[in-house]
Amino acid sequence: MTLPASGRIAVYTEPNAPFQVQDFPIRAPRADEALVKVSMSTICRSDIHSYQGHRPSPCPGLLGHEIVGNIVALGEGITHDMRGDRLSVGDRITWSEFFIPGDNYFSEVLDLPQKSHGVEKYGHMAATTAPHHHGGFAEYCYVLPKSWILRLPDNITDAEAAPINCGVATMVAVTEAANIRLGSTVVIQGLGLLGLYGAALAKSRGAKYVIGLDVNAKRREQALRFGVDMALDPSLAAADLLKQINTMCRPEGADTVIEVCGVPEVLPLGLEIVRVGGTYVIAGLVSPGAHVTLDANRFVKKMITLKGVHNYHPRHLIEALDFVVKHKAQYPFAELVDGQYALDDVTQAMSDAASQRVLRAAIVP
Ligand SMILES: [Zn+2]
Repeated sequence: MTLPASGRIAVYTEPNAPFQVQDFPIRAPRADEALVKVSMSTICRSDIHSYQGHRPSPCPGLLGHEIVGNIVALGEGITHDMRGDRLSVGDRITWSEFFIPGDNYFSEVLDLPQKSHGVEKYGHMAATTAPHHHGGFAEYCYVLPKSWILRLPDNITDAEAAPINCGVATMVAVTEAANIRLGSTVVIQGLGLLGLYGAALAKSRGAKYVIGLDVNAKRREQALRFGVDMALDPSLAAADLLKQINTMCRPEGADTVIEVCGVPEVLPLGLEIVRVGGTYVIAGLVSPGAHVTLDANRFVKKMITLKGVHNYHPRHLIEALDFVVKHKAQYPFAELVDGQYALDDVTQAMSDAASQRVLRAAIVP
């Protein structure tokens, strides 16, 4: 088939400035690359952090890494996805939000490919870096070598599929690290998209009760449809909050606490909520400078296991897709993507997402 000569990209020019839609050339995919026509890309919280200048991201650059699209052309060597399903032109796919620089110690020895030195992420590179199309807010995207690709089944919509390769896969990694067992009680700090998927995942891993904390009343109400049994406002007095939490987390505290709100000041409260011998997983503090004062003696005295989780292992991508496909009738995942915008309206989409007017804004180029 003939490839387009160029494709449009909504270029991130500088923090908080309007995006500029520009044309960049398209070439045939090289070995181990695929060229994809983007059908949907959702705005992740980390895109907002980049856009607002809170985390380093090159300008002019591309944002957007929660991407689904259809294969336009396959480079030499790409014949199957990561679990062995055959790939053909026209197939709709998702892929890991990161790709890694060949074999390396972190990947081969430590089994942490996502932390490889030189790891690159879609939606985090300069627009001037060839092959230019490597982010979601664009008509086309190259899937680059050493990415992990998954073919999407027909019975899942773009809105259900787009957050899988970041939000959902990350929460699969988080809930795996959280030591959730049959009958566990889990408290989640933050009921944005991560918290909602986290609640549904915790339930599917056997949690008896999931309690969600969020200052946003609308999110607390929505959370009840995603496996949260009780949603509380964390701005209540700590003593009242702990009392209410412990009506479900008997006798004294949650087995597991998960932070996905991105606010460092919540950590002292989380330390009080988790029971003696419990597990505390921190995953939302993705921007540098998350300083907080807390009494580290509480970790010792309560024998708390503290874990940080960043991104995910490629196996979590498979688990994320299978989880969404299996549970999409049980939980209304599609409603989480509650705003759609054209490529020319990325600036408006970003503004609506940042102000929480929408939970997950989708760019449909
Ligand atoms: Zn993300």
